[in-house]
Amino acid sequence: KLDEALDLVAEVPDFPEPGVLFRDLTPLFGSAAGFAAVVDALGEAVGDGVDRLAAVEARGFVLAAAVGYARGLGVALVRKPGKLPSVAGRVDYALEYGTATLELPSGSVAAGERVAIVDDVLATGGTVAATAELIKGAGAEATGVAVVLELAALGGRARLAGLPVHALRTL
Ligand code: AMP
Repeated sequence: KLDEALDLVAEVPDFPEPGVLFRDLTPLFGSAAGFAAVVDALGEAVGDGVDRLAAVEARGFVLAAAVGYARGLGVALVRKPGKLPSVAGRVDYALEYGTATLELPSGSVAAGERVAIVDDVLATGGTVAATAELIKGAGAEATGVAVVLELAALGGRARLAGLPVHALRTL
């Protein structure tokens, strides 16, 4: 079931820039059975002893909201800049294509919490590394990352300095 779900991910060459093979999860999000299989698997991948999830907009929100509901965990919604009325922390980082900034909402993570990160694709690892930095900056601990796809050739895992990575599929 999980394999069938993951087979729904489409490959789009040269998006959003020439040379990037974009993994499009649209058909997976659109499949009730596929989405359920992936959410169940991510819920297991998150592991035990976790107090909260963290996710980055936009696809990470969709996945983490469902996993949070299934696992009974709240979600810290990490945003792109300029969206939040009150910011607990801000990190600039490099992407596979371009640069970006992420912000953690005030009050979304408490000191001492154990926080697991959920996202769709682990590419260079910049997004997850930045999210882990925001979690640490709030006095909490990042316990690991659960992603649908890991693009191993981009070296994200190495950049995450020992943070456990659970990928439903590694490409
Ligand atoms: P990175 O920070 O390089 O690990 O990139 C991860 C974020 O960018 C994820 O949240 C993905 O949504 C998106 N992303 C990066 N590369 C790709 C790709 N090849 N296909 C789909 N999404 C990607």
